Amino acid sequence: EIERANNMKSHFLANMSHEIRTPMNAVIGMAEMALREKLPPAAREYVRQIKSSSKAPLTIINDILDFSKIEAGKMDIVPVEYEPMSIINDIANIAEERLKEKEVELIFDISPEIPNRLFGDNIRIKQVLLNIVNNATKFTTKGQVVVRMYHEPQHDGRILLRFAVEDTGIGIKEEDLQKLFNSFQQLDSKRNRNIEGTGLGLAISRQLTHLMEGEVHVQSQYGKGCRFSFELPQVVIRNEPGISLKNPEKLRAFG
Ligand code: ADP
Repeated sequence: EIERANNMKSHFLANMSHEIRTPMNAVIGMAEMALREKLPPAAREYVRQIKSSSKAPLTIINDILDFSKIEAGKMDIVPVEYEPMSIINDIANIAEERLKEKEVELIFDISPEIPNRLFGDNIRIKQVLLNIVNNATKFTTKGQVVVRMYHEPQHDGRILLRFAVEDTGIGIKEEDLQKLFNSFQQLDSKRNRNIEGTGLGLAISRQLTHLMEGEVHVQSQYGKGCRFSFELPQVVIRNEPGISLKNPEKLRAFG
């Protein structure tokens, strides 16, 4: 009986979020098109507000849809050939935008030896990494956010692909670390009242990681920052390094 009720709930959530998502996408799409037109300044501002206000409910709906799909056992992992560096490119663009107004340095530490073509579900890997990076940018007001990608070779043409995200944000209390991955759990709700979110992101991330046969870890010092990491087994398609530089000793990076 309980299982039946739970299935009905997941089914309802999946249908409901799907029904809301379609028109939300239309609202955002139409607002984007309207912004390409010549509009009087006041009208432009109204449409811009429509677009930016629609994004938050869309994120929540997407989270609920994913969560209910996972609960109903309907979340499929779809492995394809992909380039790991493209995940980093996409994440870099989004994180840079989110940190634009803050005094937070964004650092990418990518091992140059990662094979440049792998087989795995790059969309879901990106979803997990993006959720963790978004949290790091949300909860950090100064200092830095570091995103690391590296790997460990394994037997039979596989590697363990590892990601870590370190921030110098508000951190998490020792006693809260266990609660983090529960659904609908947001910590310190008084202090974080103004920060958006559903408390579903990490629950989804952990379940997606498990579906991909990986694991997520978290360490934190309250008041100092967090380190979230996860690793996933991936099949190697092409074992050439993902980054190659001609004469690297002659190149200098400037901040
Ligand atoms: P949300 O959608 O609310 O961000 P998550 O499941 O992703 O949901 O995160 C749950 C809670 O964990 C957050 O509301 C926050 O309290 C805490 N948290 C997650 N990441 C961090 C971080 N990098 N620094 C501090 N607190 C964090």
